[in-house]
Amino acid sequence: MKVCKFGGSSVADAKQVTKIIDIVLADADRRIVVVSAPGKRDKTDTKVTDLLIQCAEEALAGKCTEDTLARIIGRYAEIQRDLNLPESVVAEIEQDLRDRLAGDTSHHGMFLDGMKAAGEDNAAKIVAQAFQTRGANAVYVSPREAGMLLTDDFGNAQLLDESYPQLANALKGRKGLVIFPGFFGYTKGGAVATFPRGGSDITGSILAAAVKADVYENFTDVDSVYPVDPRLVPEVKRGITEMTYREMRELSYAGFGVFHDEAVIPAVKAAIPINVRNTNRPSEPGTMIVQTRKAESGGVVGIASDDGFCNIFVDKYMMNREVGFGRKLLQILEEEGVSYEHMPSGIDNISVVIRDRNFSEACEARVRDRILNDLKPDNVLIERGYALVMVVGEGLYYTVGMAAKATAALSAANVNIEMMNQGSSEISMMFGVKSCDRTKAVNALYGAFFG
Ligand code: ASP
Repeated sequence: MKVCKFGGSSVADAKQVTKIIDIVLADADRRIVVVSAPGKRDKTDTKVTDLLIQCAEEALAGKCTEDTLARIIGRYAEIQRDLNLPESVVAEIEQDLRDRLAGDTSHHGMFLDGMKAAGEDNAAKIVAQAFQTRGANAVYVSPREAGMLLTDDFGNAQLLDESYPQLANALKGRKGLVIFPGFFGYTKGGAVATFPRGGSDITGSILAAAVKADVYENFTDVDSVYPVDPRLVPEVKRGITEMTYREMRELSYAGFGVFHDEAVIPAVKAAIPINVRNTNRPSEPGTMIVQTRKAESGGVVGIASDDGFCNIFVDKYMMNREVGFGRKLLQILEEEGVSYEHMPSGIDNISVVIRDRNFSEACEARVRDRILNDLKPDNVLIERGYALVMVVGEGLYYTVGMAAKATAALSAANVNIEMMNQGSSEISMMFGVKSCDRTKAVNALYGAFFG
């Protein structure tokens, strides 16, 4: 059995929905279909999820929501019209959205999640109808009915493990196709909760693990996972044919947008291979993500990069003798609710790399004061405007001289390395550079490892 997930661009309009139906009906093993909310139809378009967030925020601010609501309904109405589905479909969607908007706004996160989930929920309902009009035996299954239980971290929820047997019971052995909305589930208290953004990938992976699928097919709008972001290195042509779960997780966490980093975990635990494929070119084999692969010596699988990092640099003579220095520094961040990404250190200094967006100016001032007061350093420097570049590959573990190759390439491109860190798994190397050097750095590393 195969579980297939289709991303927002695959549900963006009627033409794309037709492709989903063709793909699924072409293979009798494709039995569970997870869908995202309609995404962008072109570069200037807005995703339905973003419109839903806008609509919820307008409601919370006491503003009129009618214009935004009309835009959301319009997206579904276009699909209904172009697929010749009954008009009642749109009336039901409108009612659903109005019911959600009229819900309790006292808990903002809960209200927001209820609205956000409407994107996937209504997409699954309309896609199920579209399958039925093609004569397929397809039913919409709600995450509530299937027992998809999540923690109550609204907007950032995680699966409760007790969901697995419930999901297996609800989905295994069914006749016909299941059309399941991605991105959300329910808390034990019965409220809607969503995964982080892009979380329909997580739903697909969970369902694949629950039913012990032979493969989890993740359909998106690229032929495969590319070793580097084609927007930064346009000459990249060849995609990755096979990579390991660890490589995918490292790369997606470090900026590869094609697959959600948290979606790797359920598939790993159940040892389900993941196949990233293109809805627009279903004949392409895509990228297989598997437990192990034969890593050729020196094999770098990909280079990821992301912008928007901040570096907290703390310097103190004889830091090496001060037991608990690192813990106290991290505790300050923990008490501010800031999580860190990397922590390269030297004898007398330590850097903590965090994401800019989790670190407001006010928070920065409090952290600086506490470091100065509690840790009595010689120097604290907090600098924004960093990019991180990650070189990832199982082959790094086996090969001598990989860091030298990377640093030589960066130096030849005149990129100053601000920080360096090798992941303990030894399948990744991190380089911190100034944001303005990001593209140059990625191109230089691509040239060194793939040129
Ligand atoms: N629709 C949600 C988002 O835009 C989830 C997803 O597409 O996976 O984040």
